Amino acid sequence: MTYLLRKPDSSEKLKILGEGAQFDVCGFPSIFTRKKKKFERFKFIYPAVGQKGSCVRLFKVLQSNACEGNCFYCANRKDRDFPRVNFSPHELARLFIQYYEKKLVDGLFLSSAICGSTNQSEEKMLQTVQLLRYKYGYRGYIHYKILPGTAESLVEAAAKLVDTLYKPGSTR
Ligand code: SF4
Repeated sequence: MTYLLRKPDSSEKLKILGEGAQFDVCGFPSIFTRKKKKFERFKFIYPAVGQKGSCVRLFKVLQSNACEGNCFYCANRKDRDFPRVNFSPHELARLFIQYYEKKLVDGLFLSSAICGSTNQSEEKMLQTVQLLRYKYGYRGYIHYKILPGTAESLVEAAAKLVDTLYKPGSTR
């Protein structure tokens, strides 16, 4: 596993963790391929279908890519050699709000590799969402990944705060 020699700043983490999120499903339709090109310099902004077929720009990112799993098909598996980084909930919530307030994105797609235990990883994601809803008063769209094996109490807490829950194996 590769570690960075100096501490990366938030924008460096966003580049790594935004690219790392590209393999998570978000219903990116082929009709928006040209729009994706428009956002090419922002690796973490993805067009998706909003209400009435409109295009919404999702800020799509991982909370962490420092996975302890080694699933052969996955870009984040622990045996791959590339930089591993984590966002703290405060750091990620603040960063997302900056992009949202600049009107560069319309919603959040949040996922994560499994760093520590499944529940520890899910708790970090949940804290990020809680900060957005309660500290920053964000009322916009949140698409949120449930990691396999997450405790029911964490799933229930997330379900109260987000718009779409995504469980691997489901179609959304
Ligand atoms: S646990 Fe998830 S993130 Fe980690 S290697 Fe497996 S599929 Fe990838």
